[in-house]
Amino acid sequence: MAAKKDYYSILGVPRGASVDDIKKSYRQIALKYHPDRNPGDKDAEERFKEAAEAYEVLHDPEKRRLYDLYGHEGVSSTGFTGFRDFGDIFRSFSDIFDDMFGFGMGGMGGGPRPQAGTDLRYDLTLNFLDAALGTEVTVEVPRVVNCRTCGGSGAKPGTRRIPCPQCAGRGVVSRSHGIFQITTTCPRCQGMKEFFAEACPGCNGEGRLREKKKIKVKVPPGMDSGTHLVMPGEGNGGSFGGPPGDLYIVLAVRPHEVFHREGYDLHLEVPISFVQASLGTHLTIPTLKDSRELVIPPGTQPGETIRIKGEGVPYPKGSRKGDLLVQVRVVVPRSLTPRQQHLLDEMAKEEGAAAQVRGTQGQGQGQEEGLLKKLWHSFTSHKSN
Ligand SMILES: [Zn+2]
Ligand SMILES: [Zn+2]
Repeated sequence: MAAKKDYYSILGVPRGASVDDIKKSYRQIALKYHPDRNPGDKDAEERFKEAAEAYEVLHDPEKRRLYDLYGHEGVSSTGFTGFRDFGDIFRSFSDIFDDMFGFGMGGMGGGPRPQAGTDLRYDLTLNFLDAALGTEVTVEVPRVVNCRTCGGSGAKPGTRRIPCPQCAGRGVVSRSHGIFQITTTCPRCQGMKEFFAEACPGCNGEGRLREKKKIKVKVPPGMDSGTHLVMPGEGNGGSFGGPPGDLYIVLAVRPHEVFHREGYDLHLEVPISFVQASLGTHLTIPTLKDSRELVIPPGTQPGETIRIKGEGVPYPKGSRKGDLLVQVRVVVPRSLTPRQQHLLDEMAKEEGAAAQVRGTQGQGQGQEEGLLKKLWHSFTSHKSN
């Protein structure tokens, strides 16, 4: 095996070269012999690998010190034995390779990548009936769009662009952390690599503008709290030709005074007197859009529910509708007029007589009377004990 070549001569730099010079030289060599540019060329591959190895040692102060003192022997004592494959090399110097091959790969030095705009959320509160029946609302959505003067570049139209001074136009900055090299997006130019010489007057160089856009929202019927509507392309504007984000309208629905919803069914409670419940009656009840007649049949029990088909909440699509469920609440009067008192006394007497008739006949005994009798029996037997 041939003796290993001197790292400094591989990179073509003098022994006292600065880290910057070493890096610059390595970048040039890596670019020239990069395997993507020299497919199948074994010699180029060898040159590429040995340059990476030389750079690995010489850009690290400790390894370089050992190399300067003891040559290749000194470096292998640190455990470094070269790279296994290209993957290793790319991972180790990702900052250099990202810079050369990642950004603007297709057009070498082309502009920054298009970025999609972010999605926006808008909270919209609707009243119960609007949400149930559907409505149209105009909302004002604050959002960020590209500046129309500069097209989002931030540069005054017609002015030159200059490389970012902090990252020297690389878009990234690297810091050494022991043996690790940490590469981050340049904080000054945000990875844009360049700056404009003069800021756009339309946006003060930001490239972006905040605006409030009026948007007509068609709310379909059947909406409830927690549902959301998506308006494609109405989010924040994209950058550098990227598409805009979407707008999510998140709905909250105020409760109604008398109706409440369960899915697409509508619930309504109607109070009636016990006389109405006993004799039956006609009522006018409210519906979503209007009102209608409701027949309460004689003998309706407290809590009984009357279902009216198709008077509920419409589904968002199609002609289907939920039902209206009317629950009967029987109200017992808290005070009576003397005549009411008299009539009820008469009724009580009548009830007693009817019960006796049923009792002596021993038949036609309703379920309620049977229950009452059991209850009375257990009460009296408990008392006598
Ligand atoms: Zn502008
Ligand atoms: Zn920068």
